[in-house]
Amino acid sequence: MNSDLERLIALQRLDSASHDAERRLAEEPDREKALEARLEAVGQHVAAAKEHLVENQHARRAIEKDVAVQQGRLSKFRETAMAVKTNVEYAAVQKEIAFAQGEIKTLEDKELELMLAADDLTAALKKAEAALAADVKAVNGERQQIAAEGTELQAALERLRGERTRVVTGLSPQVLALFEQVARKRNGVAVAEARDGVCTICHVRLRPQVFNTVRRNDAINQCDHCNRILFFVPVSTAPAADAGTDVNQSTP
Ligand SMILES: [Zn+2]
Repeated sequence: MNSDLERLIALQRLDSASHDAERRLAEEPDREKALEARLEAVGQHVAAAKEHLVENQHARRAIEKDVAVQQGRLSKFRETAMAVKTNVEYAAVQKEIAFAQGEIKTLEDKELELMLAADDLTAALKKAEAALAADVKAVNGERQQIAAEGTELQAALERLRGERTRVVTGLSPQVLALFEQVARKRNGVAVAEARDGVCTICHVRLRPQVFNTVRRNDAINQCDHCNRILFFVPVSTAPAADAGTDVNQSTP
């Protein structure tokens, strides 16, 4: 194979790997933000569950006050009942007593309902708190993973840059300039495999004589359509086939 072409294939593999690493590094702040949002949402569930329980307690206290008021009235009516002199007065007081008793019964029923609801609300709060604790643990784990990945990606980038410098050193300046010119216009992908007479990235069919020349891998040939530098992978040439796969995964 033409040595410049061989270096270009290697260069493309390094650049594509660098782009992937850079893209993943650039995604880190968004991943962090998503984790933050996740914790905030679960935290809001806990706050809401607490709030519901507090509301329930306030409502119960208000009812207890109302019950005390009605019981105060009831005692007074009972005292009055002892002192009345006529049947009409007695009947009137009995009516008041029955009314206060009815009020107390209604309030106590309501309080019982609230107490039962409080059991459910307490269970819901415990569940929300457990979910929050589990999420805090999971998020911390993911944060550590993101940090570890970041360190790894930075190291990989350093390594790739070092390798790139070595590959570029052996490359003729005109060929490197061509590679960089095409890469700038083609989303960082300047090299494409030609297979079955077609450029595998832009999918345009090559002229037969162009494809025949490309098959020899002994010169720098470009796709008529996308201008990418073409190479050919003879069957059973594993390393070059790898480069072809990398190149194919990128967007045209
Ligand atoms: Zn093409």
